[in-house]
Amino acid sequence: MKITNPATGEAIADIEEDRGSAVRKKYALARGAQADWASLPLKKRLDAIRAFRERVVTSLETLAHTLTLEVGKPIRQSRNELNGFLPRLDFFLAEAAGVLREEKIFADVKQNLEERISHEPLGVIANISAWNYPYFVGGNVFVPALLAGNTVLYKPSEFATLTGRHIAELMHESGVPDDVFVPVYGGAATGAALLRQPVDGVFFTGSYATGAKIGAAAGRRMIKVQLELGGKDPVYVCDDVDVKNAAAGIADGAFYNTGQSCCSVERIYVHESIHDAFVDAFVAEVNGFSLGDPLDDRTYIGPITRRPQLDVLQKQVIDAKRRGARLMTGGNVIKRKGNWFEPTVLTEVDHRMSVMCEESFGPVIGIQKVKDDSEAVLLMNDSEYGLTAGVYTPDEKRARRILSKVRSGSVYWNCCDRVSPRLPWSGVGHSGIGLTLSTYGIQTFTRPKAWHLRGA
Ligand code: NAD
Repeated sequence: MKITNPATGEAIADIEEDRGSAVRKKYALARGAQADWASLPLKKRLDAIRAFRERVVTSLETLAHTLTLEVGKPIRQSRNELNGFLPRLDFFLAEAAGVLREEKIFADVKQNLEERISHEPLGVIANISAWNYPYFVGGNVFVPALLAGNTVLYKPSEFATLTGRHIAELMHESGVPDDVFVPVYGGAATGAALLRQPVDGVFFTGSYATGAKIGAAAGRRMIKVQLELGGKDPVYVCDDVDVKNAAAGIADGAFYNTGQSCCSVERIYVHESIHDAFVDAFVAEVNGFSLGDPLDDRTYIGPITRRPQLDVLQKQVIDAKRRGARLMTGGNVIKRKGNWFEPTVLTEVDHRMSVMCEESFGPVIGIQKVKDDSEAVLLMNDSEYGLTAGVYTPDEKRARRILSKVRSGSVYWNCCDRVSPRLPWSGVGHSGIGLTLSTYGIQTFTRPKAWHLRGA
């Protein structure tokens, strides 16, 4: 499997892909190790994850460099991801004992009866991951899964293989045995081979199209399935905002990581009374973004990681223009080595256009004028997806009124493109099923076992 630098198109590594028999062997290793791993005192598993955290800190610059080379993430944003990974690890380290502790639910002394719940690991889990935030989306799964006593078959995306390999090395050096955290390398065929193994749970992050296939394959097996999928995340800008501040915050939410975040702002609705001023401020902000070598500290916009996405973006722009949208800036593939697309802003858009309905997953955004809050709510909810949604207004009551009517896993008031380890991360509709993060995101890797205990 060739690993290519998306900024230059150059091959940077050649990795052996795990075929069917290698995947079967890896599964057998993880199955064989699970009971022993689960029977260790929790403290030992916590110590290993603590050691892993220390290694992430000491290798941070190397890890950031690799992430930038293979994914194209601008280097400052790679460092941000790694620095943001640490508080997530801290959260899991702090909360695991409380969540995993056996609970006494009921006791009746007269009847000599006790009822308890223990939190058993699921067993062997498959973690099929995405490339856009490999530390975040991978770590949300494998860290709590390991702490809960599961063994993990971790398939990084084929576009983040070197990062996946680094993660596995650091885990093994930190005291997580080779057969407890088992990396599986390859693309779709390897993922499909992994799903054919009798695993006890599948935790997937990726697109709706792949998620639907994985859900169908796993559903027949009666095992736990979690799917964290895409989004078409809206933001609504009310008429009472500070236009410049709102434009700067939302432009960052739309273009950070070159628009390749599951919770990137993908649609903007603006109250008609401030629409033109907002568009001016927004376009000025976007035109100020520096695009270029992702290894350069000054770069904010990097390449598109997956080459086929260039075609998706170009088609969305052409479709929008054909249906009457106005191109305010950008709009084209950039002709240089690697995969590059101009930061693009479209106005006079509507929901007949694919740019307002289908995930762009790149530096392209549509801004639509609305007449009031009710129209904004209708349009925000007019989507198959439901990952995040935001409202900008100084008026908290107004924001709460609007956000309470919006169908999505997370809602934001005067912020966007934000994830917290303390809050559950989930989607509705085509954005997926299940959740990660928060204490629920530890519990999700366990099976509650009911104990009915009657003394003789
Ligand atoms: P993708 O669906 O192309 O691939 C995801 C993973 O699935 C990869 O590891 C891939 O090798 C594997 N895969 C592909 N086909 C498979 C099959 N038939 N069987 C088993 N495995 C298979 O997605 P991607 O391009 O890696 O990620 C981008 C998508 O992920 C976007 O839609 C984005 O919004 C979404 N995403 C969601 C979240 C979230 O938390 N909700 C986070 C990050 C990314």
